[in-house]
Amino acid sequence: MEISVDEDKCIGCGACEEICPMVFHVDESSGKSNVIDAGACDFADCCEAAEENCPEEAIIIKE
Ligand code: SF4
Repeated sequence: MEISVDEDKCIGCGACEEICPMVFHVDESSGKSNVIDAGACDFADCCEAAEENCPEEAIIIKE
């Protein structure tokens, strides 16, 4: 599974980090979410939920 954040769309709301903190972290200086451990998606079982709850549809998952 490949996961990324479209920085042009991300508003830094923090929902993804709240749902899936092993994978996402909102960088305080940029105000954007970064993928810190894409591999964790394979067992953390929260990446799809983060994608579904992103208000800007900024999270991109490729199977
Ligand atoms: S939920 Fe979406 S808009 Fe909010 S910080 Fe995460 S990627 Fe950005």
